[in-house]
Amino acid sequence: MRGRYFCPVCRVEVTPQTIKTYAFDGSVIEGVYCPVCGSILEARRKVVDEPFRDYRVEKGLYVAFEGIDGSGKTTQVEKLVEKLEAMNVDVVSVREPWLDASKEILYNYRMDPDAEVYIFAADRIILQREIVLPALRGDKVVVSDRSFYASLAYQSSLGASQEFIWAANRWIKLPDIVFLLDLPVEKALERIKGREALTKYERIEFLEHVRRKFLKIASEVNESRFIVIDATRDIEKIAEEVFNHVIKEIEARGIKRR
Ligand code: ADP
Repeated sequence: MRGRYFCPVCRVEVTPQTIKTYAFDGSVIEGVYCPVCGSILEARRKVVDEPFRDYRVEKGLYVAFEGIDGSGKTTQVEKLVEKLEAMNVDVVSVREPWLDASKEILYNYRMDPDAEVYIFAADRIILQREIVLPALRGDKVVVSDRSFYASLAYQSSLGASQEFIWAANRWIKLPDIVFLLDLPVEKALERIKGREALTKYERIEFLEHVRRKFLKIASEVNESRFIVIDATRDIEKIAEEVFNHVIKEIEARGIKRR
């Protein structure tokens, strides 16, 4: 797609400009157009995932906590970050959804589950591009409160199809390790009943469904990557179990300490 092209509008030979656009289906459209009148002289569609190649970062360690509301994710993220920092490991902690704008929409509007899938996916793309992937490229440990799997469990429990959720998140980097904090819904709700306003997600039957989904996902994903934790236990006990897994992985990957 180089060299001189004849422009049928200007009726002269031109050295065209090139343009690359990324289509929603993941293909790249390469076009050449006339630098004078802008007519498209040639366009080709290539199905490659080049724009998203950087989502396949193999460095660092991406750890996520999953579980229903009140399962102890926030608590365990804090504990893990504290422990890793004490070992001079470079850690970045994040929480999904990331942007205030996304939270505003997700928590205040009733909407179609497919719309939720898009908003969570868009929020995740922004978070990964801006924070997660650069940190991993810098060989850091990223500790995330929720991940793609939360979309899979929550939005599919609301009625979105799993295929659609996978498709909307198709270039998302999946966590290297997921800790699923599992406990009975009543226990989780008991823990958070003091919270001022429960979100629309925090209803018992719905959370039962989400819990079952999470356990099903865990049973389908490689065990060493998706670790189910009995979250009814003492905070410190859980933190220790999590830390032991993570430090082993940090050593296996040769992640440097400060
Ligand atoms: P999540 O982020 O999953 O919603 P949090 O970490 O905010 O959950 O925990 C919810 C509440 O339960 C907090 O008050 C927290 O102190 C408490 N909590 C967390 N883990 C435990 C645990 N293992 N045992 C008892 N209480 C816990």
